Amino acid sequence: MDDIRLRFYNTLTRKPEPFESLEEGHARFYTCGPTVYNFSHIGNLRTFLFEDILRRTLKLFGWRVTQVMNLTDIDDKTIRSANEAGISLREFTDTFIQAFFEDLDTLRIERAEHYPRATDYIAEMAHLVKTLEEGGHTYRSGDSIYYRISTFPAYGKLSRIRLDKTKAGARVDSDEYEKEDARDFVLWKAAKEDEPSWDTEIGSGRPGWHLECSAMAMSLLGESFDIHTGGVDNIFPHHENEIAQSEAASGKPFARFWLHAEHLNVESEKMAKSKGNFFTLRELIERGYDPIVIRYLLMSVPYRQKLNFTFDGLHAAEQALERIANTLRRLEHTPEVENQGALCQADVEAFRRQLREGLADDLNTAKALAALHTVLHKVNTALDGGGISPKVRSALLEAFTEADNVLGIFPKQEISETNDDDEIQSLVNQRTEARKNKDFARSDAIRDELTARGILVEDTPHGPVWRKG
Ligand code: AMP
Ligand code: ZN
Repeated sequence: MDDIRLRFYNTLTRKPEPFESLEEGHARFYTCGPTVYNFSHIGNLRTFLFEDILRRTLKLFGWRVTQVMNLTDIDDKTIRSANEAGISLREFTDTFIQAFFEDLDTLRIERAEHYPRATDYIAEMAHLVKTLEEGGHTYRSGDSIYYRISTFPAYGKLSRIRLDKTKAGARVDSDEYEKEDARDFVLWKAAKEDEPSWDTEIGSGRPGWHLECSAMAMSLLGESFDIHTGGVDNIFPHHENEIAQSEAASGKPFARFWLHAEHLNVESEKMAKSKGNFFTLRELIERGYDPIVIRYLLMSVPYRQKLNFTFDGLHAAEQALERIANTLRRLEHTPEVENQGALCQADVEAFRRQLREGLADDLNTAKALAALHTVLHKVNTALDGGGISPKVRSALLEAFTEADNVLGIFPKQEISETNDDDEIQSLVNQRTEARKNKDFARSDAIRDELTARGILVEDTPHGPVWRKG
């Protein structure tokens, strides 16, 4: 399967491109992380989940990965909220950083290699501003420092905005702004009484949001690395400004691939804290939804398409997962057939190939899930008929483990056997024996006991198949 090449749609070139890493066998990527002033909503988590699929897919295709995800623990929003709560910024953001990691674990999102906190990289940020100052890319106004975008001719290459000449010299102070407001942006904000500030080589103050990511990315991954990701709302101004800062300072290309996840919408509007139309993971769990159902729903639509969140969608995901779990249970508790069975090795290989082809196609998770459902359908048909040979069964279980390493949606207990299962298997065997001896009273009694334990036994041409009901 070495012929399958991993391809990503690159926002920078607006084209799908085969992925190559700058360092042989080592993929290095930077993923914009949460602003830790509140719990993440499931829109944010959709983006973090896409990045999880990205790292797991890179590993499936043989790359060693180094992923950096920053924690924005200082910006306009964190400062405002900490002030409202009447506690220090560190204390305030600590709570939400902890909550963020809990959410990642709940959604089975693998840990990145580095989670830098912005406030731990202030010296690096100040130094980056100093380099930009020396290169003539900045100016001061009051004690704040701005980036003069006219000094970087490539400004706009990611978002493809055209600069409005009439705005030359005009500037914007807030961390977030719209395309129409494209103008000189703030790198370093002058110290204010009600804001935390640091004394640095460029003076006293605090970093702007865009500066933070440039400094942390280059500190941990070097001046040039492979992939930079975020949600589509990050393309402008955040990522455009990161490119301007990093490339003007280093004179080298910053990230080669830029991948952006589309939004999770609610009734065609972006899920956002500011709109109040959001659900946190915790709220959905309190309503009784299994986190894996949420994971499944969020990955069921490829990351470059908008996903409309609905409760019907969650129920459909619940049913899809139930189908997966049922087939795995049946597979686990089916008698071994001695002949070659009704599922062939080629079916398993076709599944492995389709899974890879789907993921290689710009992380098309919908195709990967379709491949899984196709093979599960074949497994069910085989279990209803001639059964599955031990050899094919073990190849299948291996393929499922491989699939789960990337998708992370298999029920945990179903792949491996438990002691409890041995006891049930023995009861199922006793029932088969009783039926053979035409001792129907005994076989019925065993069936009742199994039913009471929530076990369903189905009689198939190759013997009884059981699952937890
Ligand atoms: P924030 O915590 O606001 O900095 O956002 C963290 C990440 O979530 C960023 O990469 C955003 O682009 C992304 N994001 C924000 N809202 C949504 C949404 N509705 N759907 C998907 N991703 C989102
Ligand atoms: Zn960022």
